[in-house]
Amino acid sequence: MSGPVTTDDAPAEPVHDEPHPCDVEVIEGRAAEVGGFAVRRVLPRRPRRTVGAWCFVDHMGPGGVTRDRGLDVGPHPHIGLQTVTWLLEGEILHRDSLGSEQLIRPGQLNLMTAGRGVSHSEETGGIHIGPLHGVQLWVAQPEATRHGPPAFEHHAELPVVDLGSGLATVLVGSVGGTTSPARHDTDLLGVDLDLRAGTAALPLDPAHEHALVVFSGRLRVRSADLVPGRLAYLGTGLDELQLDVDEPVRALLLGGEPFAEELLMWWNYVARTRDEVVEAHRAWSSGDERFGTVASPLPRIDVAGPPWP
Ligand code: MN
Repeated sequence: MSGPVTTDDAPAEPVHDEPHPCDVEVIEGRAAEVGGFAVRRVLPRRPRRTVGAWCFVDHMGPGGVTRDRGLDVGPHPHIGLQTVTWLLEGEILHRDSLGSEQLIRPGQLNLMTAGRGVSHSEETGGIHIGPLHGVQLWVAQPEATRHGPPAFEHHAELPVVDLGSGLATVLVGSVGGTTSPARHDTDLLGVDLDLRAGTAALPLDPAHEHALVVFSGRLRVRSADLVPGRLAYLGTGLDELQLDVDEPVRALLLGGEPFAEELLMWWNYVARTRDEVVEAHRAWSSGDERFGTVASPLPRIDVAGPPWP
C-alpha cells in the first residue's frame, strides 16, 4: 500500500502541529514496507506530522528490483492530498483513474492531486529490474482546493541551481529566483541536494518551517549529524541554510508556510474529520465512481475500515 498511515504514525483525531523556531530536532523514522519494497517513513511521526504542507515522506530503498520482488502497489484511493514521486535510481510506472499512464525516471517529477477523490497504481513489475531508490511524499491540500477535481502532472525536467559545491534541483517552489513549474496549493518548497564535500548555503524564507532528509551519505546541520532514516526539523525563522559536508551527500530539503489547518490522516486519506474518512472508505470499498478505475494488471487494494467506532 502506498502510504498506509496507521495510528502508529498519527493519532485517530484531528491534530495540528505548531511551527516553532528551534536549533534542530532529529526525528527517527520507522521501517515499513510498501508494495513489497522496504521504505523508511520519516513523516508523519508522533512528534511531528507536518513540515509546511508536507505530511508524508517515505524514503524508498535503496534496494534492488528483481523478477520476483519489486515495488508493486495496486490501485488504491486518495483524498485531500497530492502525491509527489522523485527517483534517484530506477523507474516506476504510474497509472491513475484520470487515464494517466506515466513512466517516471530519475530527475523527473510525478505530481498527482487527489482533491475529492482519485485512485492510482505504482508498478515496477514488467517495467524495471535493477536498483530502485527514491522518495514518495504527500502534500496536504488546503480547504480551498481539497474538495476540487483530481489532476496529474509530469515534469520531465526541473530547474537546477549551481551552489558551487553541488547542485540543487527545485522540485516545488523557489530557490533564490529559480522556480519549479510544479503546482502547489500552499507556499511550499522541495529541493533535491546533490553536494560534494565543502560548505553549501541556500537562501530560505524565514516565514517557512524547514526540514532535511538524507538519501545517502552524511550531513552536519547545526548541531545534528544526519544520516538516512531520520528527519531533521529546523523550524521557522531561518533565512539561510548552512551545510557542512564531509563526504558526498544526497539529501532532500522540505519547507513551506506552516500548515494552519488540523489534519486527520488514516490509511490513504488526508481529511479533517472521522466522518469524512469513513465516507471515503465506504465509497472505495463499494467501488463507488468517486474513485474511478485504474487500468492496472494489479489487484485493487482494500483494508478493513478505520479503527474507531
Ligand atoms: Mn498512493
